[in-house]
Amino acid sequence: MLDFTLTPEQIKLQEKARQFAMEEVLPAAAYYDVKDEIPMPIMRKAFDAGIMNGDIPKEYGGPGLGLVEAALVTEEIAAACPGLATSIFDSALGMEPLLLSKNEGAKRKYLPRIAKDFKQTSFATSEPTMGSDVSSLRCTATPDGEDYILNGTKYWITNGGIADYVSVFATIDPKSQHAGICAFFVETKWDGVTIGRTIPKMGQRCSNTVGINLKNVRVPKENILAMPGKGFVLAMQTFARTRPIIGSFGVGAARAAMEYALDYAKKRKTFGMAIQNYQAIQFKLAEMYQKTETARLLTWKAAWESDQGKDATVNASIAKFYATEAAQEVVDEALQICGGYGYTRMFPIEKLYRDVRLLRIYEGTSEVQRIIIAGHLLNNYRSSVPQLENLPVHREFDPLDEDHANAGKAIWRCRICGHVHYGDEAPEECPYCFFPKTAFKEIT
Ligand SMILES: Cc1cc2nc3c(=O)[nH]c(=O)nc-3n(C[C@H](O)[C@H](O)[C@H](O)COP(=O)(O)OP(=O)(O)OC[C@H]3O[C@@H](n4cnc5c(N)ncnc54)[C@H](O)[C@@H]3O)c2cc1C
Repeated sequence: MLDFTLTPEQIKLQEKARQFAMEEVLPAAAYYDVKDEIPMPIMRKAFDAGIMNGDIPKEYGGPGLGLVEAALVTEEIAAACPGLATSIFDSALGMEPLLLSKNEGAKRKYLPRIAKDFKQTSFATSEPTMGSDVSSLRCTATPDGEDYILNGTKYWITNGGIADYVSVFATIDPKSQHAGICAFFVETKWDGVTIGRTIPKMGQRCSNTVGINLKNVRVPKENILAMPGKGFVLAMQTFARTRPIIGSFGVGAARAAMEYALDYAKKRKTFGMAIQNYQAIQFKLAEMYQKTETARLLTWKAAWESDQGKDATVNASIAKFYATEAAQEVVDEALQICGGYGYTRMFPIEKLYRDVRLLRIYEGTSEVQRIIIAGHLLNNYRSSVPQLENLPVHREFDPLDEDHANAGKAIWRCRICGHVHYGDEAPEECPYCFFPKTAFKEIT
């Protein structure tokens, strides 16, 4: 059964998030963007309003909401400011390895604190010399009794400057690739953890990004999220749940840009009439709407799949890939519709333009999503149509044999060019591509 109807609870949540986005996020966004400052007061309000940490299960003190709910809320906040949305929802990414791990003790210790005490968690796979190729990370985890000692630098860590905890991915041996990767829940107040300066960015300046240096950081066995060899899979399982939400960032930003452009197109006049009357503008708006709606469907589908306990890896990649690229295109067209004003800092589209650019990079670039989707197609996808060389020919419906002169003869297909030959034997040579008899296969 297919049903896109939201439940009354989901509609209420969506409305609450929209109100918060319009009243608290939108008015503050430009300020924090110009200041390049983390919007702690707004994040605190989001926490108090119950906008953050929706996915912490009830048994650990959270509301126990699903990814579909996360998609609804994220779209609303991202429509007001994708940067602030990153700040507000990054903890969900940081927490995901803990939620997915089997470490019950760490869940009982940390999740209630995160749910109740406004604690922030960051996620750290990336390093100064590695982002896409997670298996080649260099941060080392050296066993010491039952503990591990971490050494290395994690880079590009969102909310790292304010994080209380970080899910750190490291390796027992950088040469062992996937086999060595493990994961730990690290407290930033532990000895040996140093937070770097805020990295200055083009967009998403309402979110904080830093490097984190780990020097002989002792992690007790209680904080192991994944043993060596299990960390890579944990990172990929995390992305399968968080990538649909990056799709929702794109949907929110695209929707906002489309709505600003729609408003402008109705009011701006050129050559004696509002530009909304020109088909060139109407077609742009139609495509912007189509892309936004398509992106939302894909993100909802991937989020729903995850909520059903299915492996959403491929659809999460499709959703992230499509929605973030669509967002870029929609925001670009919105800027074009707004003409010179679109390019100014007094209009909101210039900021959206800078903010959405990141969506195609973090949590796996668009190229990485293509690699995942192509890998699925080439290795796991099951086709419904037959292989080309097995394409059936039904004698009754063969336009070349309407008088059924070939009835009773065997049918042969050239595997190279597709030519169909009737006869007791295949021809010595294909009359189209000149491949020899061996290229023919009998169609049964
Ligand atoms: C603002 C910001 C916030 C971030 N937040 C976090 C965070 O909180 N935690 C965290 O761990 N990381 C974070 N990241 C890091 C982010 O996930 C990486 O930047 C991203 O995965 C890409 O890695 P890279 O920058 O090292 O690029 P690289 O991996 O070096 O890739 C460079 C280019 O080559 C392409 N490429 C790489 N390999 C291939 C291939 N096989 N085929 C085709 N093309 C390829 C990439 O798509 C990219 O275009 C953040 C990054 C930014 C910019």
